[in-house]
Amino acid sequence: MAIKCKRIIKWLEEWAPKSLAMEGDRIGLLLGDPSSDVENVLVTLEITAEVVEEAVGLGVQLIVSHHPLFREPLSYLRFDMYPGNIIGRLIQKGINAYAAHTNLDAAPGGVNDVLARRLGLQDLEVLYPTYQEKSYKVVVFVPQGYEDRVRQAMSEAGAGRIGNYVECSFQTEGTGTFKPLPGAQPFSGEVGKLEKAQEFRLEMVVSGNKLSQVLEAMVSAHPYEEVAYDVYPLWTKSGSIGLGRVGRLKEARPLGVFAEGVKELLGLKAVRVTGDLQRPVSKVALCGGSGMRLLMRAVELGADVYLTGDVRHHEALEAKALGISLIDAGHHATERLIVPVIAEYLEKRSQDAGQKLGVFVSSVNTDPFLYL
Ligand SMILES: [Zn+2]
Repeated sequence: MAIKCKRIIKWLEEWAPKSLAMEGDRIGLLLGDPSSDVENVLVTLEITAEVVEEAVGLGVQLIVSHHPLFREPLSYLRFDMYPGNIIGRLIQKGINAYAAHTNLDAAPGGVNDVLARRLGLQDLEVLYPTYQEKSYKVVVFVPQGYEDRVRQAMSEAGAGRIGNYVECSFQTEGTGTFKPLPGAQPFSGEVGKLEKAQEFRLEMVVSGNKLSQVLEAMVSAHPYEEVAYDVYPLWTKSGSIGLGRVGRLKEARPLGVFAEGVKELLGLKAVRVTGDLQRPVSKVALCGGSGMRLLMRAVELGADVYLTGDVRHHEALEAKALGISLIDAGHHATERLIVPVIAEYLEKRSQDAGQKLGVFVSSVNTDPFLYL
């Protein structure tokens, strides 16, 4: 049975919530109908006319791209001209178009994390924080014998995650009291009589983006008609989320050697480099795509080299003057590693949900440049 498009969107947004996107970015379902059926998905860095034809040939109902389908507001929609021709063809073939752009740049496990990990960087930090994750403590009172069921439901919805530990909780035993009023259908006790029940006070931490789904799962797993629970905002330090990453190489190596490694990882004929090729590189900052606006952050954090794409002549001169080396590996190459990762993620989510979904990685090379 086909999956509803909105279900796939929900999976994607559990990974890269829309709230992580930069203001004004065109993300989410940009074309189509969330209630339409999807049997096959095509994942690509961007939607070009060739990618649309590939999708038609594969019998795809949803294209998931990193770059948005259109960058500017459209003044007219003509099917004989770009980009209306692409939009028209998608509409004609009933293909939905979804984009996860700056939200996926920032998301843990997204574009920049993938690039940093593939380069072997350690002690990763966010280069430019844009979002401070809020966290909460959820406390719920559960009758004895139901504590494991409620804890498990909350854990599965994302509560109780601390660093590399999951299902973290604390419970204390106590006595709860309540007097059911006429009309109530109490799980235990009688209407009009004070009931004393043996209960557990169950506590778990929850990150802000998981709070509503955890509360929903908690209430549906709880046996009481009215669930007593508290939600407390926490001041404990939680992870910051944002653009770019900075980390350390396991062992320092000369800039030239590091740049060769980048070239090999990204399958490039050439990269552009500024700085002394013999100078050892240990701390690396990076931002996939077009990241020169974060140059000063890379300098402030003491990076030896900044890896990004779309570097302009005067920006390269500025970096040189600031004493930081640059590697411009191109916009496309510094982002394309994410494409198979999105596909793997969707495959896993559909398998976990017991749903059949065909997931294809586009074989169209959408890099507009040729390297001679
Ligand atoms: Zn990009």
